[in-house]
Amino acid sequence: MDHRYDLLIVGGGISGTALLYLAARYTDIGNIGLIEKYAAPARVNSLSSNNSQTLHCGDIETNYTLDKALKVQRAARMLANYCLRQPDRDHLIFRYPKMVLGVGERECRLLRERFEVFAPHYPELRLLELKDIARIEPAVATGRDGRLRRGQLVALGSTDEYTAVDFGAVARSFVRQAQAQPDTHVDIHYNQAVRHIRVVDDGFVLDTGHTCYRARSLVVCAGGHSLKLAHDLGHGLHYSCLPVAGSYYFTPQVLNGKVYTVQNDALPFAAIHGDPDVLVPGKTRFGPTALILPILERYNYRTLPDFLQVFRFDRRVAKVLWDLFRVRDIRHYMLKNMLFEVPLLRKALFLRDVRKIVPGLRLRDLEFARGVGGIRPQLIDKTQQRLLMGEAKIDTGDGAIFNMTPSPGGTSCLENAEIDMRAIAAHLGSGIDEQAFAAELLGEDRAHGPEDFTGVVLPDGSGGGSRLRRWLRRLAGRRDC
Ligand SMILES: Cc1cc2nc3c(=O)[nH]c(=O)nc-3n(C[C@H](O)[C@H](O)[C@H](O)COP(=O)(O)OP(=O)(O)OC[C@H]3O[C@@H](n4cnc5c(N)ncnc54)[C@H](O)[C@@H]3O)c2cc1C
Repeated sequence: MDHRYDLLIVGGGISGTALLYLAARYTDIGNIGLIEKYAAPARVNSLSSNNSQTLHCGDIETNYTLDKALKVQRAARMLANYCLRQPDRDHLIFRYPKMVLGVGERECRLLRERFEVFAPHYPELRLLELKDIARIEPAVATGRDGRLRRGQLVALGSTDEYTAVDFGAVARSFVRQAQAQPDTHVDIHYNQAVRHIRVVDDGFVLDTGHTCYRARSLVVCAGGHSLKLAHDLGHGLHYSCLPVAGSYYFTPQVLNGKVYTVQNDALPFAAIHGDPDVLVPGKTRFGPTALILPILERYNYRTLPDFLQVFRFDRRVAKVLWDLFRVRDIRHYMLKNMLFEVPLLRKALFLRDVRKIVPGLRLRDLEFARGVGGIRPQLIDKTQQRLLMGEAKIDTGDGAIFNMTPSPGGTSCLENAEIDMRAIAAHLGSGIDEQAFAAELLGEDRAHGPEDFTGVVLPDGSGGGSRLRRWLRRLAGRRDC
């Protein structure tokens, strides 16, 4: 069977399915395919158990500057606007109280200052003193002796906003809605893993080992595997992927909503927080930890060879890792996160951290969440010798885009997809229904644009290789499939 598409998307997580929906609903691209290696959408990082389910709005994430926070807020609104238009919205998006907790003089001062700057942009945001915290989250305000906590404690938060999303359910909703669009042909190919991509005269050939797919344009949203496929095409060769796994612990329900803590600026990853699990009532989930693991999918050790291919270890990668390790806070944090995985030891260590949020928790309350948690595919830029945070995309400029989406990639899925939709529509010469797009997804944020992207668009670097290499790849494309 001949599979030919105008647009082919690789990866059926929240990123790939968001693009599928946007392209099917708002463009006149006629023939779209999606290839997913598992039997259903969102089985990897977008699965509800594998992430923290937070709709990041930027107000309580103290590692975000105001500028970054406002961009994330716009992205979050797009996703909320989508969810709230769906008939099954109660299964997609959820309201819980949320707060970021400051403990001690320095953190409390920082939150009070942050409130002054952020409050004008976040009308729901409140400065919460101890008694307010006690009203919303009694377990947070209560010490181990059962009395109100002593010492300085303040929080920033809100009580009546949408704060949680089941990204897996949203991915399934995107697929259903894309398939329901009357004027677009949408094919979903499950149980197909793309092994190789080649450039041919009129686009790309994707090979799964069983089947060849041809496409005029291509967007790869396959987590860490995106970089592997980009390398396969000769793009982004100066990037390496550092997979950072996150684990969680369950406790009985001690929180009513989401409680974050103030970020240590020296650390590249968000501090642990406590959240309700939208699919596990009666429990609170604490985490995620941050552990560097040599695999691209959590609990899937068959992805070790894939990791070795994208890690591309050399002197420059070693330098980035060494520079991180040299910082005392990061070194301690890395070691602590390794110990968080050691049975017997891990609960006692985790308890110490989690008591910053709920002082009254006991060892027996903690239960390691087996099989829960995902991997954040962080990129290392070898040329600049630094670790990149947030989402990253490589746009080759010839109709192929590769997305690597660590946190907050669930929240920013539609915004990220919008950028790809615009680039691909321009490449194919297709039109976009701007009016419908703005009315349905942007709401008040009419001035939204690609410049608001929360992540980074990376210079391809390789330039797709020399003319000779391009020609050789085309030749290979002609020979196979
Ligand atoms: C511990 C943790 C906590 C997080 N918490 C949050 C949060 O609270 N809020 C938030 O906004 N974000 C959060 N994130 C980030 C968010 O989960 C991810 O950014 C998002 O799920 C990424 O979606 P994706 O579709 O890009 O990747 P994935 O969900 O990983 O999907 C990639 C898809 O590609 C498929 N695939 C891979 N290789 C191939 C191939 N060769 N051929 C075909 N298919 C392939 C996979 O099977 C998979 O379905 C968190 C991430 C982690 C790890």
